[in-house]
Amino acid sequence: MQRSLDKGGSGTPVDSGFRVSCLPGKPVLVFILVFCCLFLPVWSPAADTTEAEYAAQRENMVARQIEDRGISDSGVLRAMRAVKRHEFVPESLRGGAYADHPLPIGEGQTISQPYIVALMTEAIRPKPHMKVLEIGTGSGYQAAVLAELCKSVYSIEIVESLGRRAAKLLSGRYRNVHVRIGDGYQGWREEAPFDAILVTCAPTKVPRPLEEQLREGGRMVIPVGESRVQELVVLTKRNGRLERQEIIPVRFVPMVDAKGRKY
Ligand code: SAH
Repeated sequence: MQRSLDKGGSGTPVDSGFRVSCLPGKPVLVFILVFCCLFLPVWSPAADTTEAEYAAQRENMVARQIEDRGISDSGVLRAMRAVKRHEFVPESLRGGAYADHPLPIGEGQTISQPYIVALMTEAIRPKPHMKVLEIGTGSGYQAAVLAELCKSVYSIEIVESLGRRAAKLLSGRYRNVHVRIGDGYQGWREEAPFDAILVTCAPTKVPRPLEEQLREGGRMVIPVGESRVQELVVLTKRNGRLERQEIIPVRFVPMVDAKGRKY
């Protein structure tokens, strides 16, 4: 409101026309201006409207990008509707928070495309009793989606600044998410075994410690491959062995060690 009044004062052609034909006499005008300055900012629905717009974009994202592409788990759809993705992307990129692609989150890393988050979440068949390990916290968005669906989420991020920012964001919203800064290749031994493991950076081979930390009957979803394009696979542990099912080709950032070398 304040801004539009200021604009009018600067005298664009449209405003000048308005002034000539419609504006009342001086005392009344002063009263209206004072009234607007004092009260309208309080009534202004701008902040609510923005949240409502994000909610509408989120609804559209779930319908078009996720349901239409075959994700049907009602819990996953609910979680994707619930988590405010725009809160996990840098402020300058929030306009594109619900678009159909990944977005940069700093340090050369990205928040995954919404469909991939939903696909990976559905692949572990999330249930309320589950204890889940995530490798590659990044923005914290995937951890938030998991936190909506599972009992506890343990998430490891190797880039300290990202890990700290995500931990702060998540601790204000969820009590069941634990973030650690470290090398996720090693898993989180003290908390193992996990009912499911979700890996959001790509190693060339499935890390042995993660295999070991998966509970019997548990599922791991992980992008694996040597090149820039990897295969997203689901591994199910049966009788101590991993059954492998390939889902789709994907492009994730590589899993790296503390020195930045690719695994
Ligand atoms: N799940 C994230 C997206 C992650 S992008 C989200 O929802 O936003 C992949 C992340 O994996 C990056 O943040 C990268 O720093 C991290 N990463 C790469 N190698 C890792 C490792 N060895 N251990 C833990 N995190 C790692």
